[in-house]
Amino acid sequence: MSGLLVTFSGPSGSGKDTVLDVLLKKNNNIKVSISMTTREKREYEVDGTHYYFVDREYFEKNIKENKMLEYAEYNGNYYGTPQAPVDEMINAGNAVILEIEVQGAEKIKEKCPDVVSIFLMPPSMNVLESRLRGRGSEDEDTINHRLVIAREEIRKAYDYDYVVVNDTIENAVESIETIINAERLKSSRNKNLISEVIRNV
Ligand code: 5GP
Repeated sequence: MSGLLVTFSGPSGSGKDTVLDVLLKKNNNIKVSISMTTREKREYEVDGTHYYFVDREYFEKNIKENKMLEYAEYNGNYYGTPQAPVDEMINAGNAVILEIEVQGAEKIKEKCPDVVSIFLMPPSMNVLESRLRGRGSEDEDTINHRLVIAREEIRKAYDYDYVVVNDTIENAVESIETIINAERLKSSRNKNLISEVIRNV
């Protein structure tokens, strides 16, 4: 099976982590890239699982050495995708999901035009706000700032290939599986298979 690069965006609180957890447990040929960030680790997060938590100096060294597939500054911190692990997973035939914000997704679209972009949409702004507050890990200013950013990000959803509403986790996971399966079957991604069959006719 050929590899597939997928960007997965959505505002903070849209439920990206939960949806991805379920998606990955159900599908062993779908992998997620572990990003590098300079933001502070949240209490429940594990270094090397949720992110590689690094300082600005180390992040900038990786940029200079061309080791990042993309990176962006978001909310005062660097976030980026280390290139090498993504290449390895794609070459092994996996669909590799990059959970990244909208600027990063735009950069990837320019660099890799056959990427599939998916936007995870909260059912409403009210639901988004209560999910952000429910997390309880951030102060009022941070939450308000995230809501302002969320509105801007949602306006960018028009530019994505697919929009998935996270009304229930099961529905969102099923929609993403459908998208990935259909994208894998596109003739443009299966030219080798077609030539192979023709050669043997
Ligand atoms: P959070 O701080 O809530 O974990 O993430 C903030 C934003 O950064 C989210 O929209 C998340 O998708 C995005 N993000 C996480 N990793 C990366 C990355 O490697 N590159 C880019 N461009 N954005 C990322």
